[in-house]
Amino acid sequence: MPLITAALVAALTLGQAAEGGSSDAMKQTITALENELAQKYGEAERPRIEQGIRQAAGFWRKEDGDEKAFAEVVRTYFAGDSVARNAFFSRMEKCLESLDGHMNEIARDFRWQTDLDLGDVYPFDEVLAGYDPSAHFVDDSFQNKLAFAVLLNFPVTTLKERLEQGPAWTRRQWAEARLAERFDKRVPAEVNLAITEARAEADRYISDYNIWARHLVDAKGTRLFPPKMKLLSHWNLRDQIRADYSEGKDGLPKQRQIAAVMDRIVTQTIPLVVVDNPYVDWDPVANTVKTSLERDSDKPAPTDMKVANTPEPDTRYLMLLKTYQAARKEDRYSPTAPTLMARRFDEDRQIPEERVKAMLVEVLTSPLAPRVAALVESRLGRPLEPFDVWYAGFRPRGQYTEEQLDAIVKKKYPTAEAFQDDIPNILVKLGFSKDRADYLGSRILVDPARGSGHAAGASRRGDKAHLRTRVEKDGMNFKGYNIAVHELGHNVEQTFSLNDIDSTLLRGVPNTAFTEALAFVFQAHDLELLGLAAPDAQSQALRALNDYWATFEIAGPALVDMAVWRWMYDHPNANAADLKTATLQICKDVWNTYYAPIFKKKDVVYTVGIYSHMINAFLYLPDYPLGHLIAFQIEQQIQKASAAAAKPGAAKPGAPAPGDILGREFERMAKAGNVAPDIWMTNATGSPVGAQALLAATEKALAVVK
Ligand SMILES: [Zn+2]
Repeated sequence: MPLITAALVAALTLGQAAEGGSSDAMKQTITALENELAQKYGEAERPRIEQGIRQAAGFWRKEDGDEKAFAEVVRTYFAGDSVARNAFFSRMEKCLESLDGHMNEIARDFRWQTDLDLGDVYPFDEVLAGYDPSAHFVDDSFQNKLAFAVLLNFPVTTLKERLEQGPAWTRRQWAEARLAERFDKRVPAEVNLAITEARAEADRYISDYNIWARHLVDAKGTRLFPPKMKLLSHWNLRDQIRADYSEGKDGLPKQRQIAAVMDRIVTQTIPLVVVDNPYVDWDPVANTVKTSLERDSDKPAPTDMKVANTPEPDTRYLMLLKTYQAARKEDRYSPTAPTLMARRFDEDRQIPEERVKAMLVEVLTSPLAPRVAALVESRLGRPLEPFDVWYAGFRPRGQYTEEQLDAIVKKKYPTAEAFQDDIPNILVKLGFSKDRADYLGSRILVDPARGSGHAAGASRRGDKAHLRTRVEKDGMNFKGYNIAVHELGHNVEQTFSLNDIDSTLLRGVPNTAFTEALAFVFQAHDLELLGLAAPDAQSQALRALNDYWATFEIAGPALVDMAVWRWMYDHPNANAADLKTATLQICKDVWNTYYAPIFKKKDVVYTVGIYSHMINAFLYLPDYPLGHLIAFQIEQQIQKASAAAAKPGAAKPGAPAPGDILGREFERMAKAGNVAPDIWMTNATGSPVGAQALLAATEKALAVVK
């Protein structure tokens, strides 16, 4: 195990300074305790003793007691020999599995009515669904001193240490690191509440941000959109631009009008009165507003409506600023990740911010970008416009109609049970051995979902994973089936990475992009599993181009999100107007650097600035492009392994039969568990997380699609 690093000492001292554990009396106590324990257990143990005591002291607060109480805790809970330390490790491994597993089951039961298609949801069902039975576990553990016992005996690590030293660690060392991480923060309830409230306020702002498309008019007063159409920013606005490609040149005026709306939102020149209001008509280009004579909504008119183009008062940026102000409150209680950026990148993604940035820049500056852009331009038959970052024309057109597919699926899966019973067959067709398919089938339960679907994994080994998908009254339709196949991929990953792993402390995957990538491996085979033709080379190439273009598009907003959070941390006293000015400048810089050379237009802000996640999701956007990169790496590995197995003479004694290869690869990857992403990926594919697989697939696709 590493010795405590300078960075960690500094970070932990910060925690002490915040909580009064740094008094002279406490410092003397710490030194005395270190000497006392080193004498008792031997000088060889001194580094471990010093690290443990300092870690525990870093989280000690006045309310926990004076320095005598601290000394008592240290003497009681420091495990001086390997027998006691091993016993503590095993106990925590078992107890945390039990706690997580049972809490997960309780939460699943509390959400049963709201998650499943079981009829009415009463107000009390919503209360049950919102309850988190495990919310107070960490607080309780500091109170009863269990957290201090863990901190005294297992090393708290930084991401830097895990990346530098982790490749040489044993699995036990990784498990210990994950154990200590459970207690590496002690965030007061009022700070968590402030964060929850800021998030909720921003969520409400976003979820009511509707643009009434019927009330958009052009310079001649013409309405381009149908009655009652209401578009939520940003999802519906962006999807409307995508949908309008199917109308060819006729879609263009609509796309330009939506682009003008987006620009007004991002620059906050949007008239306040047009937000979620069907009683006014708005020309977003001239920015003029009139009372509407067209009635197409039952929504009551706003009281004291002032029909003027007075702009929204930078509320968009105020919401973002409030999320920052709330997030910052957690910093001092999170010594190993003392900024929101560190918590997102070092803890959630476990990839340093600088590396993520470098990967995004690699995608954006790839020589493939202008080549794919030229292909988009030639397919459109007109010069590119900035909103063509959302070009939707690479989606392959299937061989079968939606109705044909629905009919096939309805017959095959009239009920959730029918899908459940077929899971072992599905898995054999995907490339799992009969044994493993039966094993997995016995650990996954299918429930009819109220919403679109999700995979609720188990957290303890006695429990089963739940696959949720929508089943209509007359049977499953193709959409429900497609989602079910995706969720089955999650459930299989969840089952392997819980039941077949060496330590439950390493259960799961490094971050959500990994389980999504594994689920997409399943989903890509949906047609073959129905006995239909697999996508041909042309469809596969189109899909690769579609994914490259989507990654190219979302990499820009991700860079903006990252730069804006850095700016907020550098300007803690900024107001909403300052933040707006800074954000618009960042948008221009990102656009001008990476997109303007391709789109031949400068200073565009809406394409990289419109995402609502940037306002309410606390630095979430980089997950999207990262997810694409990881998915391509995993897909490339499975293709490589299948090709190697299919070669004549490849079969060595004991080697998997070619038919089992997907199953073997999937299981091998999933069993790595929650180690650092680069270690996971190197184990899975031989290389760390990177853009290479996506770029290789794009290059190949460009040779197929002309
Ligand atoms: Zn998923």
